[in-house]
Amino acid sequence: MDKKAMREEAERLMREAMANRKVTVKQGDTVIMVTCGKCGAPNKVKAPKGVTRVGYVCKECGAKQETM
Ligand SMILES: [Zn+2]
Repeated sequence: MDKKAMREEAERLMREAMANRKVTVKQGDTVIMVTCGKCGAPNKVKAPKGVTRVGYVCKECGAKQETM
């Protein structure tokens, strides 16, 4: 793959991701309040409807974790 093809592929994937996100928002994302397991800070995490386990990064300490 040359650089031009790689860039076009990256742009295509980004457009698809943005389109998917718009659709998801329309369907009603839910906001989950979670407490960071490392520092205890409250975090708001957006999740698609019906999904309770989503990965997020704590806004205070940056720890990667999943909501329960
Ligand atoms: Zn934290």
